[in-house]
Amino acid sequence: MAPEARAGIVLDRCPVCGTVWCDRTELAAVVAAERPGALLGWGRRRPVDAARATPRCPRDPGAGLEPWDLDGVPFRRCPTCRGIAIAGEDLQRLLLQAGKPADHR
Ligand SMILES: [Zn+2]
Repeated sequence: MAPEARAGIVLDRCPVCGTVWCDRTELAAVVAAERPGALLGWGRRRPVDAARATPRCPRDPGAGLEPWDLDGVPFRRCPTCRGIAIAGEDLQRLLLQAGKPADHR
């Protein structure tokens, strides 16, 4: 993992796959800094895809990262330390969407 500063918050990015590893607090801080006024929801758990291998938490080797979804953007969350793993492009999408008000019409 390589540290990457974003809006003053240091996130960890995997130099191989580009996945960003952070906690919910850090993610919320980045959204708040880059998208003032935007609220970051919690998202919801998605069913586990049995056909795909479950990545392990980098902090808790025994814990598998659960698939989650936030406004259509997939990410994975550790049930033990609540760390969040999100692909680089998905983090970008999350930040773009966070700035837009939800269109319910
Ligand atoms: Zn963990």
